[in-house]
Amino acid sequence: MANIDYLIIGQGLAGSILGYKLHAQGATVKIIDNRNKSSSSAIAAGLIDPITGKRFALSWKIDTLRPYADDFYRDLERTFKMQFLHHKMSLRLFKSDEEIALYEQKKEEDGFKKYLHKFIPADPECLHFQNPFGGVQINHTSYLNIPLFLYTLRKYFERENLIVSTKCEQKDLQITSECVKWKSIEAKKIIFCDGFKASQNPYFKWLPWRHAKGEILTLDIPKMPRDRILHANGHWLLPTKEGSFKFGANYHWDTLDNIPTETERTELENALSEFIKHPFKVIDHQAGVRPILVDTKPVIGSHPQLSHVMILNGLSSKGVLLAPFIAEQFVQHLINETPIDPEIDIRRFSFANQGIQP
Ligand SMILES: Cc1cc2nc3c(=O)[nH]c(=O)nc-3n(C[C@H](O)[C@H](O)[C@H](O)COP(=O)(O)OP(=O)(O)OC[C@H]3O[C@@H](n4cnc5c(N)ncnc54)[C@H](O)[C@@H]3O)c2cc1C
Repeated sequence: MANIDYLIIGQGLAGSILGYKLHAQGATVKIIDNRNKSSSSAIAAGLIDPITGKRFALSWKIDTLRPYADDFYRDLERTFKMQFLHHKMSLRLFKSDEEIALYEQKKEEDGFKKYLHKFIPADPECLHFQNPFGGVQINHTSYLNIPLFLYTLRKYFERENLIVSTKCEQKDLQITSECVKWKSIEAKKIIFCDGFKASQNPYFKWLPWRHAKGEILTLDIPKMPRDRILHANGHWLLPTKEGSFKFGANYHWDTLDNIPTETERTELENALSEFIKHPFKVIDHQAGVRPILVDTKPVIGSHPQLSHVMILNGLSSKGVLLAPFIAEQFVQHLINETPIDPEIDIRRFSFANQGIQP
């Protein structure tokens, strides 16, 4: 007989928000997390950007997800009497006349108007950064202080006796057709929120993962203004609440570990030197792996043969924006049996002929 409803593996953004929401609904929950200081959530900058990439793409479902995320984080701020989410204007600098032409085209398209705020003319005399082509001010950008957010939730989970700090080893997991057992805990369902480790997880490694490693610098730049987030040449520079700056991040698909490399540090430092006009000092350098599926959409649902073995993952490079809404969809499915949006349902991927023997 199960003694809890849900066993959740992982306390990154996915596991934290899902665990919090399920507990708030009255479900009995236990989270197991191995406190990895280089998890994707632990090192991410925490940005919410409505417009991303070279092609000025609107983030998926942005008009629904952004207000939902805002309300969710604000609600938790009131509960815990802390500030997690910071709104900050962004300036995206153009790098060519072609990019200006693309902006001119996009600003006329539906959906873009409320985000593309104002054209800022070129300013070769700018004291702080290179601005040969001008840029566009972007509305509704923000960042989440993820370390504070995760720490606050961890403390809450500890107070409520909802978390165990250890690694969940496969040898300690027993999964029968009835329920799940981990040490003395028996659960009706197990939900893996294990980030990029899902591709080593026997139940979900068959999914078409395309994780991307990223590296990020924390900097001291005393003379740099702190009034906005700057985007240039595919990089961003974020002034944080703590007085430092974060600069990143690159994408690599070959070596998937969280070890910072000298090559990437040099590349990031060179990119920053080309872009800002002030000296900077590197205070920290971190690496992590973004959990991404080939179609870049999140995934929720059950293992095709084991309905009580479940997953919430694939938050890609947008965990802060996606996690609250996706976790809510999952909670509604679990508690009220609401159908899952086909775009994020695990059943969009074929399991045929995987020959999985967990
Ligand atoms: C360089 C970089 C910059 C980024 N910048 C941003 C950004 O600005 N904005 C944004 O929204 N997103 C950003 N992201 C992406 C963001 O980090 C992810 O979308 C999100 O954090 C993924 O959360 P998750 O909970 O799914 O996975 P994770 O954060 O990886 O969490 C998984 C957790 O599970 C634990 N775990 C795994 N296996 C086990 C096990 N067997 N037993 C116990 N515990 C286990 C891990 O230790 C970890 O704590 C960035 C990522 C990187 C790498």
